[in-house]
Amino acid sequence: MNMNIDFNKMNGLVPAIVQDALSGKILMQGYMNEEALVKTKETGMVTFFSRSKNRLWTKGETSGNFMELVSMSVDCDGDSILVKANPRGPVCHTGADTCFAEENSSKTAFIDHLRAIIKDRKKNPTDKSYTASLFAKGINKIAQKVGEEAVEIVIEAKDDNKDLFLGEAADLLFHYLILLEAKGYELDEVMEVLIERHRK
Ligand SMILES: [Zn+2]
Repeated sequence: MNMNIDFNKMNGLVPAIVQDALSGKILMQGYMNEEALVKTKETGMVTFFSRSKNRLWTKGETSGNFMELVSMSVDCDGDSILVKANPRGPVCHTGADTCFAEENSSKTAFIDHLRAIIKDRKKNPTDKSYTASLFAKGINKIAQKVGEEAVEIVIEAKDDNKDLFLGEAADLLFHYLILLEAKGYELDEVMEVLIERHRK
């Protein structure tokens, strides 16, 4: 985190916008001084300078709903900070998921995280990784796995076991993502096709 921040511009404080690292939702906004920034880096818990308390305030210090730091970056002119974090619970003191009263329960953004892991397994294979072992076996094996998982979800679809069905649904999605990566395509390219179809 190499950050060039102009603390003088705003009397020692810069706005810090906190975004959920997984969902991308904006969680809250606070102010950091240099000390708050250092403490955030050192503790890994997002810490602000509270103007009402007139002291450093680690989000979650009373509620337990800390925000674990993932990354920080500075905007183009050095006067605001984007903090990506994993919230341990609802962020707002009102009990809402975010200070903008938005829900932050969608987990679909985890797909992007999963894709990043799959990419990494392809680039940096390890012996222990199942994904890496599939890439090593090649496209025929990967495509075959997708076919097997597709058959398995069809079988579970005919029954009424939620756990087994969701398990097969997860397997199919996971292997589908591996197949895309093996073919060198992005999920966005599939989305393009769907968006284009939707336009018609
Ligand atoms: Zn709030």
